[in-house]
Amino acid sequence: MANPTLLILAGDGIGPEVMAEVKRIITWYGDKRDMPFDVTEDLVGGCAYDKHGTPLHDDTMAKAQEVDAVLLGAVGGPAYDDLDFSVKPERGLLRLRKEMDLFSNLRPAQCFDALADFSSLKREIVAGLDIMIVRELTSGVYFGEPRGIHTEGNERVGVNTQRYTESEIARVARSAFELARRRNNRVCSMEKANVMESGVLWRQVVTEVHAKDYADVELSHMYADNGAMQLVRNPKQFDVIVTDNLFGDLLSDAAAMLTGSLGMLPSASLGLPMANGRPKALYEPVHGSAPDITGQGKANPIACILSFAMALRYSFDAGSEADRLEAAVEKVLADGARTADLLGPEGGSPISTTQMGDAILAA
Ligand code: ATP
Ligand code: MG
Repeated sequence: MANPTLLILAGDGIGPEVMAEVKRIITWYGDKRDMPFDVTEDLVGGCAYDKHGTPLHDDTMAKAQEVDAVLLGAVGGPAYDDLDFSVKPERGLLRLRKEMDLFSNLRPAQCFDALADFSSLKREIVAGLDIMIVRELTSGVYFGEPRGIHTEGNERVGVNTQRYTESEIARVARSAFELARRRNNRVCSMEKANVMESGVLWRQVVTEVHAKDYADVELSHMYADNGAMQLVRNPKQFDVIVTDNLFGDLLSDAAAMLTGSLGMLPSASLGLPMANGRPKALYEPVHGSAPDITGQGKANPIACILSFAMALRYSFDAGSEADRLEAAVEKVLADGARTADLLGPEGGSPISTTQMGDAILAA
Protein backbone atom coordinates (compact mmCIF):
# COMPACT_ATOMS: atom_id res chain seq x y z
CA MET A 1 0.00 0.00 0.00
CA ALA A 2 1.10 3.54 -0.72
CA ASN A 3 2.35 5.63 2.19
CA PRO A 4 -0.08 8.14 3.70
CA THR A 5 0.45 11.64 2.31
CA LEU A 6 0.82 14.81 4.34
CA LEU A 7 1.19 18.42 3.19
CA ILE A 8 3.06 20.56 5.71
CA LEU A 9 2.47 24.30 5.58
CA ALA A 10 4.58 25.71 8.42
CA GLY A 11 3.70 29.32 7.59
CA ASP A 12 4.97 32.36 9.50
CA GLY A 13 6.27 33.42 12.91
CA ILE A 14 6.64 30.51 15.32
CA GLY A 15 4.92 28.22 12.76
CA PRO A 16 8.22 26.86 11.37
CA GLU A 17 9.69 26.58 14.90
CA VAL A 18 6.92 24.39 16.29
CA MET A 19 6.61 22.47 13.01
CA ALA A 20 10.32 21.53 13.16
CA GLU A 21 9.52 19.44 16.26
CA VAL A 22 6.61 17.74 14.52
CA LYS A 23 8.84 16.91 11.56
CA ARG A 24 11.26 15.15 13.90
CA ILE A 25 8.36 13.11 15.28
CA ILE A 26 7.22 12.22 11.76
CA THR A 27 10.76 11.05 10.95
CA TRP A 28 10.72 9.02 14.17
CA TYR A 29 7.54 7.26 13.04
CA GLY A 30 9.20 6.27 9.78
CA ASP A 31 12.44 5.10 11.42
CA LYS A 32 11.25 3.54 14.65
CA ARG A 33 7.71 2.38 14.02
CA ASP A 34 7.86 1.56 10.33
CA MET A 35 5.17 4.15 9.60
CA PRO A 36 6.64 6.26 6.79
CA PHE A 37 4.72 9.30 5.57
CA ASP A 38 5.12 10.95 2.18
CA VAL A 39 5.59 14.55 3.26
CA THR A 40 5.45 17.55 0.95
CA GLU A 41 6.23 21.03 2.26
CA ASP A 42 4.94 24.28 0.86
CA LEU A 43 4.21 27.91 1.71
CA VAL A 44 1.14 29.60 3.14
CA GLY A 45 0.54 33.09 4.53
CA GLY A 46 3.12 35.86 4.58
CA CYS A 47 5.97 33.65 3.36
CA ALA A 48 3.87 32.65 0.34
CA TYR A 49 3.08 36.30 -0.32
CA ASP A 50 6.80 37.16 -0.19
CA LYS A 51 7.58 34.52 -2.82
CA HIS A 52 4.49 34.49 -5.03
CA GLY A 53 2.59 37.70 -4.27
CA THR A 54 -0.34 35.65 -2.96
CA PRO A 55 -0.86 34.01 0.47
CA LEU A 56 -1.75 30.70 -1.19
CA HIS A 57 -0.49 29.71 -4.63
CA ASP A 58 -2.86 27.72 -6.87
CA ASP A 59 -0.35 24.85 -6.98
CA THR A 60 -0.38 24.67 -3.17
CA MET A 61 -4.18 24.68 -3.16
CA ALA A 62 -4.16 21.81 -5.67
CA LYS A 63 -1.74 19.81 -3.50
CA ALA A 64 -3.94 20.37 -0.44
CA GLN A 65 -6.87 18.82 -2.32
CA GLU A 66 -4.87 15.68 -3.12
CA VAL A 67 -3.22 14.72 0.16
CA ASP A 68 -4.65 12.66 3.01
CA ALA A 69 -4.14 15.57 5.43
CA VAL A 70 -2.75 19.09 5.67
CA LEU A 71 -0.79 20.18 8.76
CA LEU A 72 -0.49 23.94 9.20
CA GLY A 73 1.66 25.97 11.63
CA ALA A 74 0.52 29.59 11.80
CA VAL A 75 0.11 32.55 9.46
CA GLY A 76 0.55 36.30 9.77
CA GLY A 77 2.74 38.80 11.55
CA PRO A 78 3.41 42.52 11.84
CA ALA A 79 5.35 42.62 8.56
CA TYR A 80 2.09 41.93 6.73
CA ASP A 81 -0.27 44.18 8.71
CA ASP A 82 -0.43 46.85 6.03
CA LEU A 83 -1.10 44.53 3.09
CA ASP A 84 -4.28 44.85 1.09
CA PHE A 85 -7.09 42.71 2.54
CA SER A 86 -7.16 40.47 -0.54
CA VAL A 87 -3.58 39.27 0.02
CA LYS A 88 -3.44 39.18 3.84
CA PRO A 89 -1.79 36.00 5.21
CA GLU A 90 -5.07 34.91 6.86
CA ARG A 91 -6.68 34.81 3.43
CA GLY A 92 -4.46 31.85 2.58
CA LEU A 93 -5.95 29.88 5.45
CA LEU A 94 -9.49 30.99 4.64
CA ARG A 95 -9.04 29.85 1.05
CA LEU A 96 -7.88 26.41 2.21
CA ARG A 97 -10.91 26.05 4.50
CA LYS A 98 -13.33 27.23 1.85
CA GLU A 99 -12.07 25.25 -1.14
CA MET A 100 -11.56 22.08 0.89
CA ASP A 101 -15.09 22.69 2.28
CA LEU A 102 -14.00 22.08 5.88
CA PHE A 103 -17.35 22.49 7.59
CA SER A 104 -16.62 20.70 10.86
CA ASN A 105 -14.15 22.30 13.27
CA LEU A 106 -13.01 20.09 16.14
CA ARG A 107 -11.50 21.70 19.20
CA PRO A 108 -10.67 19.47 22.13
CA ALA A 109 -10.54 20.94 25.62
CA GLN A 110 -8.33 18.51 27.42
CA CYS A 111 -6.75 19.23 30.77
CA PHE A 112 -3.46 17.51 31.49
CA ASP A 113 -3.24 16.80 35.18
CA ALA A 114 0.17 18.45 35.54
CA LEU A 115 -1.31 21.73 34.27
CA ALA A 116 -4.64 21.66 36.10
CA ASP A 117 -3.62 24.59 38.32
CA PHE A 118 -3.30 26.72 35.16
CA SER A 119 -6.99 26.66 34.50
CA SER A 120 -9.13 29.69 35.17
CA LEU A 121 -11.26 27.29 37.25
CA LYS A 122 -10.50 25.21 40.33
CA ARG A 123 -8.41 22.08 39.87
CA GLU A 124 -11.24 19.70 40.89
CA ILE A 125 -13.52 21.11 38.20
CA VAL A 126 -11.01 20.62 35.35
CA ALA A 127 -8.56 17.86 36.32
CA GLY A 128 -9.02 15.01 33.87
CA LEU A 129 -11.29 17.08 31.61
CA ASP A 130 -11.49 15.72 28.05
CA ILE A 131 -14.27 17.14 25.90
CA MET A 132 -14.56 18.00 22.22
CA ILE A 133 -16.42 20.94 20.72
CA VAL A 134 -17.59 20.49 17.13
CA ARG A 135 -18.27 23.88 15.55
CA GLU A 136 -19.97 24.32 12.18
CA LEU A 137 -17.44 26.40 10.27
CA THR A 138 -18.70 27.38 6.83
CA SER A 139 -22.22 28.73 7.26
CA GLY A 140 -24.46 30.56 9.73
CA VAL A 141 -24.49 34.21 10.68
CA TYR A 142 -20.91 34.90 9.53
CA PHE A 143 -21.89 34.11 5.94
CA GLY A 144 -25.69 34.54 5.64
CA GLU A 145 -27.22 37.00 3.18
CA PRO A 146 -28.49 39.69 3.29
CA ARG A 147 -25.77 41.45 5.19
CA GLY A 148 -24.47 45.00 5.30
CA ILE A 149 -24.98 48.44 6.75
CA HIS A 150 -27.70 50.62 5.22
CA THR A 151 -29.75 53.64 6.17
CA GLU A 152 -33.35 53.52 7.32
CA GLY A 153 -34.96 56.90 7.81
CA ASN A 154 -32.35 58.96 9.62
CA GLU A 155 -30.22 56.20 11.12
CA ARG A 156 -27.87 53.41 10.06
CA VAL A 157 -28.76 49.75 10.43
CA GLY A 158 -26.28 46.83 10.59
CA VAL A 159 -27.64 43.54 9.27
CA ASN A 160 -26.45 39.93 9.43
CA THR A 161 -28.49 36.86 8.69
CA GLN A 162 -28.33 33.55 10.52
CA ARG A 163 -29.14 30.99 7.85
CA TYR A 164 -28.75 27.21 7.91
CA THR A 165 -29.93 24.67 5.36
CA GLU A 166 -31.00 21.21 6.38
CA SER A 167 -28.01 19.61 4.64
CA GLU A 168 -25.54 21.96 6.34
CA ILE A 169 -26.90 20.96 9.75
CA ALA A 170 -27.10 17.26 8.88
CA ARG A 171 -23.49 16.96 7.75
CA VAL A 172 -21.99 18.57 10.84
CA ALA A 173 -24.33 16.52 13.04
CA ARG A 174 -23.07 13.36 11.32
CA SER A 175 -19.50 14.39 11.92
CA ALA A 176 -20.26 14.86 15.65
CA PHE A 177 -22.03 11.49 15.93
CA GLU A 178 -19.18 9.71 14.12
CA LEU A 179 -16.74 11.32 16.53
CA ALA A 180 -18.85 10.35 19.56
CA ARG A 181 -18.72 6.71 18.46
CA ARG A 182 -14.93 6.88 18.67
CA ARG A 183 -15.12 8.47 22.12
CA ASN A 184 -17.76 8.02 24.82
CA ASN A 185 -20.90 7.84 22.67
CA ARG A 186 -22.48 11.05 23.95
CA VAL A 187 -23.42 14.22 22.04
CA CYS A 188 -24.93 17.42 23.40
CA SER A 189 -26.31 19.72 20.69
CA MET A 190 -26.51 23.44 21.51
CA GLU A 191 -28.63 26.16 19.87
CA LYS A 192 -31.28 28.66 20.89
CA ALA A 193 -34.42 26.95 19.62
CA ASN A 194 -36.39 29.03 22.11
CA VAL A 195 -35.76 32.27 20.22
CA MET A 196 -34.28 31.43 16.77
CA GLU A 197 -35.86 29.73 13.75
CA SER A 198 -32.46 28.38 12.68
CA GLY A 199 -32.26 26.92 16.17
CA VAL A 200 -35.63 25.18 15.78
CA LEU A 201 -34.50 23.64 12.49
CA TRP A 202 -31.10 22.74 14.00
CA ARG A 203 -32.76 20.78 16.79
CA GLN A 204 -35.16 19.04 14.35
CA VAL A 205 -32.46 17.98 11.91
CA VAL A 206 -30.03 16.79 14.61
CA THR A 207 -32.88 14.72 16.11
CA GLU A 208 -33.77 13.24 12.69
CA VAL A 209 -30.17 12.33 11.79
CA HIS A 210 -29.80 10.76 15.21
CA ALA A 211 -32.99 8.66 14.93
CA LYS A 212 -32.14 7.52 11.41
CA ASP A 213 -28.48 6.52 11.74
CA TYR A 214 -27.07 7.10 15.22
CA ALA A 215 -29.63 5.83 17.73
CA ASP A 216 -26.79 4.06 19.59
CA VAL A 217 -25.31 7.46 20.55
CA GLU A 218 -26.79 9.27 23.55
CA LEU A 219 -28.12 12.66 22.41
CA SER A 220 -29.17 15.65 24.51
CA HIS A 221 -30.07 19.24 23.63
CA MET A 222 -29.27 22.42 25.51
CA TYR A 223 -29.84 26.11 24.90
CA ALA A 224 -26.44 27.62 24.16
CA ASP A 225 -26.62 30.21 26.94
CA ASN A 226 -27.23 27.45 29.48
CA GLY A 227 -24.46 25.49 27.74
CA ALA A 228 -22.02 28.36 28.35
CA MET A 229 -22.96 28.33 32.02
CA GLN A 230 -22.68 24.55 32.33
CA LEU A 231 -19.30 24.63 30.58
CA VAL A 232 -17.78 26.70 33.37
CA ARG A 233 -19.89 25.18 36.17
CA ASN A 234 -19.29 21.50 35.47
CA PRO A 235 -17.51 20.90 32.14
CA LYS A 236 -16.93 17.20 32.79
CA GLN A 237 -20.65 16.50 32.24
CA PHE A 238 -19.97 16.82 28.48
CA ASP A 239 -18.23 14.60 25.96
CA VAL A 240 -18.93 15.88 22.42
CA ILE A 241 -20.71 19.24 21.98
CA VAL A 242 -22.02 20.14 18.52
CA THR A 243 -23.08 23.67 17.75
CA ASP A 244 -23.28 26.34 15.06
CA ASN A 245 -20.61 28.73 13.84
CA LEU A 246 -21.33 31.68 16.15
CA PHE A 247 -22.01 29.76 19.35
CA GLY A 248 -19.10 27.44 18.58
CA ASP A 249 -16.76 30.39 18.22
CA LEU A 250 -17.65 31.60 21.71
CA LEU A 251 -17.97 28.24 23.44
CA SER A 252 -14.68 26.87 22.10
CA ASP A 253 -12.75 29.95 23.23
CA ALA A 254 -14.33 29.70 26.67
CA ALA A 255 -13.51 25.98 26.81
CA ALA A 256 -9.90 26.76 25.81
CA MET A 257 -9.41 28.76 29.00
CA LEU A 258 -10.51 25.79 31.08
CA THR A 259 -7.29 24.09 30.09
CA GLY A 260 -4.60 26.75 30.50
CA SER A 261 -2.13 27.81 27.83
CA LEU A 262 -2.79 28.60 24.20
CA GLY A 263 0.44 26.72 23.50
CA MET A 264 -1.32 23.43 24.35
CA LEU A 265 -4.38 23.50 22.12
CA PRO A 266 -4.73 21.57 18.85
CA SER A 267 -7.57 21.66 16.32
CA ALA A 268 -8.87 19.81 13.28
CA SER A 269 -11.11 21.01 10.48
CA LEU A 270 -12.84 18.23 8.59
CA GLY A 271 -14.80 18.05 5.33
CA LEU A 272 -16.63 15.37 3.41
CA PRO A 273 -15.20 11.84 3.10
CA MET A 274 -12.65 11.28 0.31
CA ALA A 275 -12.29 8.14 -1.80
CA ASN A 276 -10.42 6.43 1.06
CA GLY A 277 -13.46 6.95 3.34
CA ARG A 278 -11.70 9.46 5.59
CA PRO A 279 -12.62 13.13 5.64
CA LYS A 280 -10.68 15.91 3.98
CA ALA A 281 -8.73 17.42 6.81
CA LEU A 282 -6.59 20.30 7.97
CA TYR A 283 -4.89 20.21 11.37
CA GLU A 284 -3.46 23.26 13.11
CA PRO A 285 -2.67 24.63 16.55
CA VAL A 286 -5.23 27.09 17.89
CA HIS A 287 -2.55 29.70 18.57
CA GLY A 288 -1.35 32.27 16.05
CA SER A 289 2.10 33.23 14.80
CA ALA A 290 3.13 34.78 18.16
CA PRO A 291 5.39 37.53 16.75
CA ASP A 292 6.38 38.58 20.29
CA ILE A 293 8.39 35.36 20.80
CA THR A 294 9.33 34.46 17.21
CA GLY A 295 12.95 33.45 16.66
CA GLN A 296 13.74 33.06 20.37
CA GLY A 297 13.35 29.30 20.71
CA LYS A 298 10.66 29.84 23.34
CA ALA A 299 7.55 28.60 21.56
CA ASN A 300 5.70 25.63 23.02
CA PRO A 301 5.49 22.96 20.26
CA ILE A 302 2.83 20.88 22.06
CA ALA A 303 -0.25 22.40 20.34
CA CYS A 304 1.27 21.55 16.96
CA ILE A 305 2.37 18.09 18.13
CA LEU A 306 -1.13 17.35 19.47
CA SER A 307 -2.55 18.53 16.13
CA PHE A 308 -0.43 15.85 14.47
CA ALA A 309 -1.80 13.36 17.04
CA MET A 310 -5.30 14.31 15.86
CA ALA A 311 -4.16 13.66 12.28
CA LEU A 312 -2.94 10.21 13.30
CA ARG A 313 -6.35 9.50 14.82
CA TYR A 314 -8.72 10.98 12.24
CA SER A 315 -6.80 10.81 8.95
CA PHE A 316 -4.37 7.93 9.31
CA ASP A 317 -6.38 5.31 11.18
CA ALA A 318 -3.68 5.21 13.85
CA GLY A 319 -5.63 5.90 17.02
CA SER A 320 -3.34 3.84 19.22
CA GLU A 321 -0.31 5.79 17.94
CA ALA A 322 -2.18 9.02 18.72
CA ASP A 323 -2.80 7.71 22.26
CA ARG A 324 0.90 6.92 22.55
CA LEU A 325 1.95 10.40 21.43
CA GLU A 326 -0.53 12.07 23.80
CA ALA A 327 0.73 9.87 26.62
CA ALA A 328 4.31 11.00 25.86
CA VAL A 329 3.17 14.63 26.16
CA GLU A 330 1.38 13.84 29.42
CA LYS A 331 4.51 12.13 30.76
CA VAL A 332 6.94 14.96 30.03
CA LEU A 333 4.56 17.44 31.66
CA ALA A 334 4.22 15.19 34.69
CA ASP A 335 8.03 15.00 34.84
CA GLY A 336 8.10 18.80 35.02
CA ALA A 337 9.16 19.82 31.50
CA ARG A 338 7.91 23.39 30.93
CA THR A 339 8.34 25.86 28.10
CA ALA A 340 8.14 29.49 29.25
CA ASP A 341 4.37 29.77 28.66
CA LEU A 342 3.79 26.87 31.07
CA LEU A 343 5.58 28.39 34.04
CA GLY A 344 3.27 29.57 36.79
CA PRO A 345 3.70 32.70 38.90
CA GLU A 346 6.23 30.83 41.08
CA GLY A 347 8.53 30.71 38.02
CA GLY A 348 11.17 28.07 37.40
CA SER A 349 13.55 27.54 34.52
CA PRO A 350 11.95 27.05 31.13
CA ILE A 351 13.20 24.69 28.44
CA SER A 352 13.38 25.59 24.74
CA THR A 353 11.17 24.50 21.86
CA THR A 354 13.79 21.95 20.78
CA GLN A 355 14.29 20.62 24.31
CA MET A 356 10.55 20.05 24.62
CA GLY A 357 10.70 18.15 21.30
CA ASP A 358 13.66 16.12 22.64
CA ALA A 359 11.76 15.25 25.82
CA ILE A 360 8.66 14.10 23.94
CA LEU A 361 10.72 12.01 21.52
CA ALA A 362 12.53 10.40 24.43
CA ALA A 363 9.24 9.62 26.18
P1 ATP B 1 -3.57 35.47 15.57
O1 ATP B 1 -4.10 36.80 15.22
O2 ATP B 1 -2.58 34.94 14.57
O3 ATP B 1 -4.60 34.48 16.00
P2 ATP B 1 -3.16 36.19 18.24
O4 ATP B 1 -3.01 37.66 18.35
O5 ATP B 1 -4.45 35.56 18.58
O6 ATP B 1 -2.66 35.72 16.82
P3 ATP B 1 -1.07 34.47 19.14
O7 ATP B 1 -0.12 34.64 18.04
O8 ATP B 1 -1.73 33.16 19.24
O9 ATP B 1 -2.09 35.62 19.17
O10 ATP B 1 -0.36 34.81 20.52
C1 ATP B 1 -1.04 35.23 21.69
C2 ATP B 1 -0.09 35.17 22.88
O11 ATP B 1 0.14 33.78 23.23
C3 ATP B 1 1.28 35.75 22.60
O12 ATP B 1 1.79 36.42 23.73
C4 ATP B 1 2.13 34.56 22.25
O13 ATP B 1 3.49 34.73 22.53
C5 ATP B 1 1.51 33.46 23.10
N1 ATP B 1 1.63 32.16 22.41
C6 ATP B 1 0.89 31.75 21.36
N2 ATP B 1 1.28 30.54 20.95
C7 ATP B 1 2.28 30.16 21.78
C8 ATP B 1 3.11 28.99 21.85
N3 ATP B 1 2.98 27.96 21.00
N4 ATP B 1 4.04 28.95 22.81
C9 ATP B 1 4.20 29.96 23.68
N5 ATP B 1 3.46 31.09 23.66
C10 ATP B 1 2.51 31.20 22.71
MG1 MG C 1 -6.17 34.85 17.55
